[in-house]
Amino acid sequence: MSSERDKARYPFTSEAAEFVKSLNIGVDDLTSEPYNLILKRAEQRIRQALFKPDELSPQEQDPNIEIPSFPTAIMLMAFVDSENTKRRYAVAESKSFSKKLKDEEPEKVLEIAKRTFGWRIKHPDDKTGTVDFLLHFREYLTNSRNMNELKWKLTNRYLKSGYIQLTKDETARLLEEEIQKKILEKTKHPKVEPPKALQEILSEINGLASVRSTSQDLVQTFSIEVADMPQCIKRMLDTLSSGGRLSHIGRFTLTSFLINAGATEEDVMDFFKTASDFDEGKTRYQVEHISGGRGGKTRYTPPKCDTLRTHGLCVGPDELCKRVKHPLSYYKRKRILSKRSVAKPAQAPEI
Ligand code: SF4
Repeated sequence: MSSERDKARYPFTSEAAEFVKSLNIGVDDLTSEPYNLILKRAEQRIRQALFKPDELSPQEQDPNIEIPSFPTAIMLMAFVDSENTKRRYAVAESKSFSKKLKDEEPEKVLEIAKRTFGWRIKHPDDKTGTVDFLLHFREYLTNSRNMNELKWKLTNRYLKSGYIQLTKDETARLLEEEIQKKILEKTKHPKVEPPKALQEILSEINGLASVRSTSQDLVQTFSIEVADMPQCIKRMLDTLSSGGRLSHIGRFTLTSFLINAGATEEDVMDFFKTASDFDEGKTRYQVEHISGGRGGKTRYTPPKCDTLRTHGLCVGPDELCKRVKHPLSYYKRKRILSKRSVAKPAQAPEI
């Protein structure tokens, strides 16, 4: 049995959903007192997820507001037009839940995994070392599918009688994936018009969504001309800014490209923060290594176009691509061409 504090911390759980159902609040009620406080908190939730994800945590003392604010925010997000924004929202919420789960007692993690997601998970018979849980390999595979790190590969895990050994942190990370999928599923656009009562708040949220919807806005802040980058790099930036993941070679390519194009290590760190699998320690290590601040002090450059092509990272080469063999050469040439076209004197008007 979970407490109201638990339901507010983990409003995605089946118990929180039952609690919300018992309140019996209709969509039209949300614009009148006292339920409009739920709508306000839902909007705040969305703002935090999109702009200040580190601040996402229960904020209302009243569980009758805090708990339903989560499904209300999800309902609002379902009517948002941008898929990238929905993903960013889902990533921010699921990350904040997984952070809290890492600090929970193992019993709580086990209860959520079993009751809400139906995972086949249990404690090991004899608790030795760092193993907290045994998870059935099917649930493990479903939720580790997008993890790039080698430690998640099934071949690198200890598998016994169909179960994989996990630490609490690893379990929280896998739950993050499960929660993210659940949010994305629920934010699929319903094939109906948004309720009239919500139109005002929805146009505000759609406005928020367009404020920072592309990589262009993010990178432009650190004086790199995104418009001059090749398509392969632009696509990687867009993947990250929408909360997606990059393969190992994708991360290496993007980091080394940005560093060589003039970004600082902190700029690159800031950018990677939007990725759903962001791990501050590991990302910092990789960024410093690639920029030459660690190890052999070598500054790495991105792979050549041929290599990127082999890894499926070259996308729709344009005319300039046909004349270069390296994404950085593309960027340098394009910068020169752009500057020339800006510097070109204006034609005298015909008289
Ligand atoms: S040809 Fe090279 S620069 Fe152009 S999209 Fe492909 S990998 Fe990128």
